[in-house]
Parts: sequence; structure tokens; C-alpha cells
Amino acid sequence: MVTELNPKVLIIGAGPSGLTAAAELGKSLGSEVLVVEREATPGGIPRHSDHPGYGMRDLKRFMSGPAYARKLTQAAEDAGVTILTSTQVTNIGADGALEATGPTGRLSIKPEALVLATGARERPRMARRVPGDRPDGVLTTGQLQNMVHMHDQKLSGRAVIIGGELVSWSAALTLKEAGAKPVALVTKYPRSESYRVFRGPGKVLFGTRVVPNSTVTRIIGKGQVSAIEVENSETGERSTIETDWVVFTGDWVPDHEIARMLGLEMDPATKSPKVDTGLRTSRPGTFAIGNLLHPVDTADVAALDGKHVANQVLAYLGGASAPTDGVDLEVDSSLRWVSPNIIRPGDTAPSRERLLFWTDEYIARPTVEARQGGKVIGSTRTSWPAAPGRVFRAPSSILGKVDYTAGPVTITVR
Ligand SMILES: Cc1cc2nc3c(=O)[nH]c(=O)nc-3n(C[C@H](O)[C@H](O)[C@H](O)COP(=O)(O)OP(=O)(O)OC[C@H]3O[C@@H](n4cnc5c(N)ncnc54)[C@H](O)[C@@H]3O)c2cc1C
Repeated sequence: MVTELNPKVLIIGAGPSGLTAAAELGKSLGSEVLVVEREATPGGIPRHSDHPGYGMRDLKRFMSGPAYARKLTQAAEDAGVTILTSTQVTNIGADGALEATGPTGRLSIKPEALVLATGARERPRMARRVPGDRPDGVLTTGQLQNMVHMHDQKLSGRAVIIGGELVSWSAALTLKEAGAKPVALVTKYPRSESYRVFRGPGKVLFGTRVVPNSTVTRIIGKGQVSAIEVENSETGERSTIETDWVVFTGDWVPDHEIARMLGLEMDPATKSPKVDTGLRTSRPGTFAIGNLLHPVDTADVAALDGKHVANQVLAYLGGASAPTDGVDLEVDSSLRWVSPNIIRPGDTAPSRERLLFWTDEYIARPTVEARQGGKVIGSTRTSWPAAPGRVFRAPSSILGKVDYTAGPVTITVR
């Protein structure tokens, strides 16, 4: 038997972005807002990211991941929203309804408005095509934190982390807590990409040495991992690091299956649905938020997307006419991607009045420049660096002089 549901708003994903959108929309729509979450508990990644560092920009607090996840869940529940857990949206039916399966069986959901908040995940070893043996003990940060924080698993021996992002130090913390020693952090960049503040303490607290300019060329081990081989990109030299665990961090891919099934226009650079500054996708009444759009930013920024989208969803439900055509935002080779992707005349500014970018180069005091038809239309110099491994954010005011008849805007950082 299939249960049919017709909420005003369906939100897929109960991470920080989905829960925040739910709490905001729930203030006026209450139980007409339905959230579906495939995991057994709401909260998304922060549920198993048990260290402080959450909630600063959205809740103006500094809290642990699990506490943050509980707080956002409570806010959505207090607003009267319905959250169905252990329920996964798997397909789009011929009638356009979203098909889901959960503890009560199959659901067919036809909302008036849809918000995709499905997040992003780290590419596992197989997707990274790392050669070598196929032993146990090769994980992503998400798998590691799930084992340790959700299933209380203890680890022992040495561990090597591949990647030097903020998340990599989160992996180091989890490994240490679980009983393993994070002996090395291997990064392809000349330095660990994460904030400088983590690099010194990382070495002191965890005894973790950073191995720069290096990539993994082989995984070695029968049964359990015993070592990895790394190659230095400057010298071409290869060396072996003995280890019992390998944790691949970063290298994100958005959870975009539903967006693709819906046939949304996609941005090839982020592999996310293309959105305008109101977080509207190419399908009327379908919105996208959080790390599905910008893999990956911090949880508070994802959450504030949820707040930003709520006004646009309410306007859509109230019959507001769709904004007229706009111009595309593009990047040159100095950046990997930009989010959002479209700016329209008279539309809202993006969430937090920020454009989000991904860069592969460290620039201490970057200048961000917007050009249209070869002419500079706006620029700004930020007081914060652009660095690989984390989202670089710049004020959207550089787009103040966009000419909506002059074609795409190209953004550069230098
Ligand atoms: C190891 C690690 C440490 C981090 N540390 C910090 C930190 O200290 N501070 C910080 O601010 N940020 C941190 N982050 C980043 C932060 O966790 C993310 O920015 C945040 O979780 C993104 O929220 P989201 O709602 O976009 O996605 P997610 O949290 O990924 O939530 C998406 C949800 O959608 C669900 N979902 C996906 N597909 C479906 C489907 N088909 N049907 C139903 N449900 C579905 C998923 O199960 C998931 O619960 C960390 C991330 C990691 C991996």
C-alpha cells in the first residue's frame, strides 16, 4: 500500500540547512511542512561530529555538533513541523510525486513547494581511484565518525589522514578519542589547507606531522591496512608510511541524485543544481540549499541558507510571480566554482550577501573582480585569505553594477 501525502512544503534532508528552513517555514505553516530524513535521527553531519565549532553565525553560540543537531531539531519540532526519519526519497513517480520508503512503508509525496537539502559527502577511496590492495581500515571522515560517535567503536594503532582541510583535523580528533594515533596528514598542497590556528596545535596535541606536496600512490595491506606509499610532487620521491588506518577527508561531491532525477539544470563545476540568489532551481517551486549547493561550507552558513530560502518559498506559495531572466555568474581559471549561479534584476541579494567560491591556491589578501563583456564592473579586496580546502566568501556588492543585457559575469580572484 502507498500512503499519499500532500504537504505545502516538503524538505528532503534534516541537516542544518533543512532543519533551519523547516523551523523558519514552520512559524507560518506548522505541520504543513514535512521533512524527510533517511537516517534514524535528524541533524545531518553534526550528529556524529562530536567536537565544538558549530552554531557561531546562526545561533551566535559555540557548541558541539551533536548539541547543535539537537538544538536545530528541537527548533523545527517546536514550530510544529513533521519530521519523518528513516525515510528516504528514492524516486520521482510518473505523476511527478516523490516516492519515499520508510518504517510505515511506501510514501508518495506531492508538495506545493520542494526544498532539496541533501548535503554533500566525501568521495570514498574507490571513487578517488587510489591503486593498491583492498584491505580493511580505509575510511572517509563520515564513516569514521559514524563508527566512533554513533556506534561507540574503539580503534587502536596508527592512522594517516589524507587531506589537510578543517575536516581533516576533525578526523584527527576523532581518531585520538577512539584510541588511534593520527601520525601523519598527507596533503597535495604546499601546506595544510586548514586554518593556521589548527596547524601548530594539531602537531602538539595529536603528534600529527603534515606531509605537504604529496599524494597517495598505493595502499598496502592484506586483511588490515599496513602502510601507504606517498609521492612528493616536487621531487617525485616515493616513501612509505606505516599505518593501521587510512582516512580520506575532503574531496566533496554533492548528494545530487534527486536533483538529477528531477531533471534540474545542473552546474557542471559544483555538480549541484543551478540556483539564483533566491535559491530557486530551474524547476518552478523547487529550491535548493546548504552543502548540496556549495560542497562544503560550515554548518552555520548552510543553516542560514535555510533561513534565506524560507522567504522565497513563502513568496512562491503566495503566488509571487517568478523573477525575470537574469545573467549567469561564471568563474575563470583562478576559481573552481561560484554559488549561486544566476543573478536576476530586482531579485534578493544572496544569503548573507555573500558569493561563495572554491579556490585551489592560497592568497593572503585576495582581490575579487567581476567582469562583464571584458569590462570590470566591481571589485573588492577581502581582509581574509582565499585558501584551498574551504569555501572562500566575498561580498555580493561587487555585482552592484551588473548590466542585465550584457551577458554572463565572470569572476576572478588574484
Ligand atoms: C568531519 C566534519 C567536521 C565538520 N566540522 C564542522 C565544524 O566544526 N563546524 C561547522 O560549522 N561545520 C563543520 N562541518 C560542516 C558541516 O557539518 C556541514 O556544513 C553541514 O552539516 C551541512 O549541512 P547540510 O544541511 O547542508 O547537509 P548535511 O548535514 O549533510 O545533511 C543532509 C541530510 O540529508 C539527508 N539526505 C540525503 N539524501 C536524502 C534522501 N534521498 N532522502 C532523505 N534524506 C536524505 C542526509 O541523510 C543528511 O542527514 C564538518 C563536516 C564534517 C564532515
